[in-house]
Amino acid sequence: MRAIVIHAPKDLRIETVAVPSLGPRDVKVRVEAGGICGSDLHYYQHGGFGTVRIKEPMILGHEIAGTVVETGGEVRRIKSGDRIAVNPSQPCGICRYCQQGLQNHCLDMRFYGSAMRFPHVQGGFRQMLVIDEAHAEPFTADLPISAAAFAEPLAVCLHAARRAGPLLGKRVLVTGSGPIGCLAIMAARRAGAVEIVATDIAEAPLAMALRVGADRGVNVAGGSDGLDDYKQDRGTFDVLLEATGNEQAFNAALPLLKPRARIVQIGIASTDFRIPINVLVAKELELRGTFRFHEEFGLAVDLIARGLIDVSPLLTATLSFESARDAFELAADRSRAMKVQLTFA
Ligand code: ZN
Repeated sequence: MRAIVIHAPKDLRIETVAVPSLGPRDVKVRVEAGGICGSDLHYYQHGGFGTVRIKEPMILGHEIAGTVVETGGEVRRIKSGDRIAVNPSQPCGICRYCQQGLQNHCLDMRFYGSAMRFPHVQGGFRQMLVIDEAHAEPFTADLPISAAAFAEPLAVCLHAARRAGPLLGKRVLVTGSGPIGCLAIMAARRAGAVEIVATDIAEAPLAMALRVGADRGVNVAGGSDGLDDYKQDRGTFDVLLEATGNEQAFNAALPLLKPRARIVQIGIASTDFRIPINVLVAKELELRGTFRFHEEFGLAVDLIARGLIDVSPLLTATLSFESARDAFELAADRSRAMKVQLTFA
């Protein structure tokens, strides 16, 4: 079969790789949709992010959906012909954090298309994938399979929304209106947020933020003056969902938050940034990280399948895997693209 393999920054190759053998509890999946994520783009553009670097060739991709074409002898839950979303998160299940229900902090995590461990865990941008049936989440809706490939980034945002605490009746600021910001808007709206304001430095993502449920979008390219009204009475928002990983965006948001507001940092910063810690202290702000997801993956599939979250507006374009370089270049252009997916026929 063919697969998309990253060797070094900008060195993306389409190569022939072997189809793994099918174990008794495995299912073989014909991959039909693969979303290009920000982390795939980081590997493509810079060879990694933070301290994570590609040290050997790696198949990219972890936003994967397709159809089961073969099942192992002990597989009961899934059958050939089922359409599924692939959960790319494979916690060990036995370490102390898995035992505590903190599977996203597993000590032996294997996550598709990730160079965090060595040897790297190969990803899902390939024609065939063999996975444990536990990682196959049936997608029974009468919707295009492209929708199921949004389950992973939506799960990230559902986990972020959960880290924000109850959102019913809350006023929420979302900084950064790319795919994750937009999915965070949808998650916050579904969770009961009463007002959602989105920011970005480009018009196209802001238009999308409004389309998927934000009440207002503010362009902060020329500064954050457009947000000044929200500074009144020590701030307006109960929750900040920070999806940029940008120091300026983070710090500009602090005066807009009410005392005891909760900040959920979703975006990853390319370098550490400086925070005015005295503002956090004086306003009793709570700063929380959020990392991947666990049980939210099944919830994401369910919300999409039931039509409670409509991800379809986010899909900009679908390209063949043979045009992977074009697809990655398009995905990296925020003025043209929200989510770009690949097909593998
Ligand atoms: Zn574990």
